[in-house]
Amino acid sequence: MTTPPPLMLETSEQLVTCKDESTGLRAVIAIDNTVLGPGLGGIRYRPYEDLWSAGIEAQRLAAAMTLKNAIAGVPFGGAKSVVVQDGPPPRGRDALFRRFGEFVARLGGTYIPGVDMGTSSNDLRTVGSAGAEVSCTDVDPSPWTALGVFHSIAAAAEQHLGTDGLDNVRVLVQGVGHVGARLAELLTEAGADVLVSDVDQARAAEIADRLGAGTVAPDEVTTTACDVFAPCATARVITHRNLAGLPAKVVAGGANDTLEDEDCAHELHARGVLYVPDFVANGGGVIHVQAMRSGWDDARTTAAIGRIGDRVGELIEHSRTAGTTPLQAALTKARELVAVAEGA
Ligand code: NAD
Repeated sequence: MTTPPPLMLETSEQLVTCKDESTGLRAVIAIDNTVLGPGLGGIRYRPYEDLWSAGIEAQRLAAAMTLKNAIAGVPFGGAKSVVVQDGPPPRGRDALFRRFGEFVARLGGTYIPGVDMGTSSNDLRTVGSAGAEVSCTDVDPSPWTALGVFHSIAAAAEQHLGTDGLDNVRVLVQGVGHVGARLAELLTEAGADVLVSDVDQARAAEIADRLGAGTVAPDEVTTTACDVFAPCATARVITHRNLAGLPAKVVAGGANDTLEDEDCAHELHARGVLYVPDFVANGGGVIHVQAMRSGWDDARTTAAIGRIGDRVGELIEHSRTAGTTPLQAALTKARELVAVAEGA
C-alpha cells in the first residue's frame, strides 16, 4: 500500500472535511486566506482517487483563489471546495448539495462558494437553500471568465508571437465546458484557427461542427501543433514530463492550477514558451461575481474584464525588464497586495 501524501496542514487558514452517509457526501473545504475578505471560490464536483487527493486539490485551488482575487482587485480572500463524485448520489444530486450547503452554512460566511468544474448555478441555489451565502446563483460567470481568458490570449499573442489580433493564430482549447466552449466561440469570431478537445468527445464534435473548428483527441493535446494552448479543463495539465514536447509558444487558459509546480514556469520560459499565470487569465469570473454584488451594468463589467488583457501585457513587460517569468511577477504582486492589506 502506498503512503498517502500529507495534506498541507500548515497551509490553509481553515480546512474542513465533510461526511454524510445518507447522501453519500464526501467533501473538503479549504479556506486559504481571508485577509482581503471572505474566501470566494467554486465547488468542484468530480471523481477523486481518495479524500487525500481531493483535499490537496482543494488546498491548491484555494491558494490560487487568494492570488486570483488579489490580482483581480476584488474584496475577497481565497477558498475552494471539492465534492467527491462517486457514482450517482444515493438520495440524488439536490440532497447531496443541500447537505453540503449545511456544512458551508456552519462556516458563518467565511466561505462563499461559486460554480466550478462539474457544478452549475442550479447546484449553487441548492447549496444556498441550506442557509449558506453563495454566489453564481442567477448568472453563470463562465462566459465572463472566457472573456478574460480571450483578452489574455490576445495580449499574449500580440506581445509574444508578434501578431496583430488573432487572425489565423492556431489555438487549442482543452475542455469545452462552460468556459472552454465560450472561449472557442470568441476565438472563432476573432478569426483564430480553433482546435477543441474534450473527454466528452461527442461534445467536442458538436462544438467543432458548430464553429467549424478541428478536434483533437484528449491524450494528444500537449503534442498537437498550435500557437496557443488554452487549458480549460482539469488541474496540472503541464508537467515536467510533457512540457518539453509542447509545440505551443503560449499557454493561457481558464483552468486553475495548470502547472505541476512553479518550476514548470521556469522550464517553459527557458524553452521560449510564454506561460500566462492561470490566476491572472481566469479572473473574469470573480470580477463578475463582484459586479453582480455591486450592481454594475454589463458595460462596466465588460470594461473591467477587458483590463485583464492590459494586466497580462503589463506582466509580460515587467517580467521582461525584471528578467523573471510572468508567474514570478504575478506571485510577487499578489503576495504584496495581501501583505499590505494584512499590515493595514
Ligand atoms: P466544466 O465542467 O463546465 O467544463 C470542463 C470540461 O472539461 C468538460 O466538458 C469536461 O468534459 C472536460 N474535461 C475534463 N477533463 C478533461 C480532460 N482531461 N481533457 C479534456 N477535457 C476534459 O468546467 P468549467 O466551469 O468550464 O471550468 C473549466 C476550468 O476553468 C476549471 O479548471 C475551472 O476551475 C476553471 N475556472 C472556471 C471558472 C468559471 O467561471 N467556470 C472560473 C475560473 C476558473
